[in-house]
Amino acid sequence: MARIALVTGGIGGIGTSICTRLAQDGCRVVANHHPSEVDAADEWKKARAEEGYDIATFSADVSSFEDSTRMVKEITEQFGPVEVLINCAGITRDKTFRKMEAAQWQAVINVNLNSVFNVTRQVWEGMLERGFGRIINISSVNGQRGQFGQANYAAAKAGMHGVTMTLAQEGASKGVTVNTVSPGYVETAMTLAMDDDIRNGIISGIPMRRMAQPSDVSSAIAFLVSDQAAYITGANLPVNGGLFMH
Ligand code: NAD
Repeated sequence: MARIALVTGGIGGIGTSICTRLAQDGCRVVANHHPSEVDAADEWKKARAEEGYDIATFSADVSSFEDSTRMVKEITEQFGPVEVLINCAGITRDKTFRKMEAAQWQAVINVNLNSVFNVTRQVWEGMLERGFGRIINISSVNGQRGQFGQANYAAAKAGMHGVTMTLAQEGASKGVTVNTVSPGYVETAMTLAMDDDIRNGIISGIPMRRMAQPSDVSSAIAFLVSDQAAYITGANLPVNGGLFMH
């Protein structure tokens, strides 16, 4: 039986690569998207179907506990229990701290960190009871080292790994592994839209002299999801081309 894999923020740049890779690996993949992305999700689903992937899409604002509860209930009724969860939904609202407004702080904590509670809480008990689960939290190099203008984002991303380490301990004896993947700069629509001089400045600071491809991230995730990674839990795996080591 195919494992049911839920990817939050699944129609985004990195999420798309995760969805298609997990589908290649035999999972029944469900991509979550924000309610504002209904049309985009329909187009995304058609584009994936043209590539040969049958991936379901489910709308929910994962910064809302209630909406996350509803979504996971619907997924479970339609497909069965979620066995693999990739918490990938994320936003940035960059400002230097002296200019950061409460709304920018709260939005980033709500979407990047509170979503981890909102969605994981729905699937956690079932994973413990069934004796199998894989949870991967998509953090960022900037959660490990901080970043100018990203106090909100760095706090949320660092917080995600705190959740990872705790749930890893709570799930370890029950066959549930929980890990963090921390990408560096990834070539997505967002980074491709940067001015060339900013992009080139970033690339010159990366020891591998290139940004990650989304597939660099999704292949690390695929490994952590696989049976071969059964003994790895509580880890924070960097996928950053050597940008930050600790
Ligand atoms: P993206 O913007 O392409 O994708 C993120 C997706 O999450 C979007 O589809 C967005 O609509 C969705 N989303 C936002 N708020 C949501 C909400 N409340 N409910 C449901 N969905 C919501 O970004 P991406 O580059 O693919 O990033 C994916 C993840 O990887 C994010 O968590 C991001 O912080 C992290 N990350 C990205 C990079 C990078 O360079 N792109 C680097 C490190 C970490």
